[in-house]
Amino acid sequence: MGTAWKVLPCLAAFMLAACSPGGPGHTHAPAHDTAHAAMSDTLDRPIQVHPVHHSALVLEWNGLTIAVDPHAGAERFAAYPPPDLVLITDIHGDHLDSTTLLAMKLEHARILAPKAVMDLLPARLQAITDPIANGERTELKGVRVEALPMYNLPERPDAYHPKGRGNGYVLTLGNGTVYISGDTQGIPEMRALRGIDIAFICMNLPYTMTVDEAADAVLAFKPRIVYPYHYRGTEGLSDVARFKQLVNAGDPSIEVRLEDWYR
Ligand SMILES: [Zn+2]
Repeated sequence: MGTAWKVLPCLAAFMLAACSPGGPGHTHAPAHDTAHAAMSDTLDRPIQVHPVHHSALVLEWNGLTIAVDPHAGAERFAAYPPPDLVLITDIHGDHLDSTTLLAMKLEHARILAPKAVMDLLPARLQAITDPIANGERTELKGVRVEALPMYNLPERPDAYHPKGRGNGYVLTLGNGTVYISGDTQGIPEMRALRGIDIAFICMNLPYTMTVDEAADAVLAFKPRIVYPYHYRGTEGLSDVARFKQLVNAGDPSIEVRLEDWYR
């Protein structure tokens, strides 16, 4: 692929804790992946990426653990260090799952979520949650977070995802930037992004984007690495291999990482 980035297998000692099995009852072996500037060293610290399930992922950076949209069972997260930061994008069960959240180790965590999500959380979780709206920025534990809109086009009040309710997120981790799309179409706010190192892009029907729309949006903002995620809908699994083909036909320098998000 001619890229300066490469996937490192989980060998380095500092990763071993995150890579060891979660103990008895752990049924979802974590995927291992590291966005690491192995050759050009453009990242001051590696960002370790763990695809978990559908929209759920874990990032490890600088000794911090960030969980995004944890749902579908706390056991999926048991192999990772307890999160320092939890980001929730939207109100639907594949993003907000209070049962999973209540069963996770959140003693040291803060949750960031849109107000519509916060309103649905039980009091115990609300107590550790800060609301964040589209366009707002905050910094928690050295992680800068900006909330972006996520919505369906054309805009309609009865859309699956009306503008203003949910958040996409841009995280700044040292000199690295991560974009998490949430459930959205290829909105202008996504297309206008620049300098993104790692992007997580949804594509499922009928709720978000076709693979063609997702590829077109990605080619507009050109992240260095893109993970198709959130690609199962009532119309089945989206063709992420075709997404990769379309992206690389437009720009072979974008690294498309296909992971199994539905193990
Ligand atoms: Zn969703």
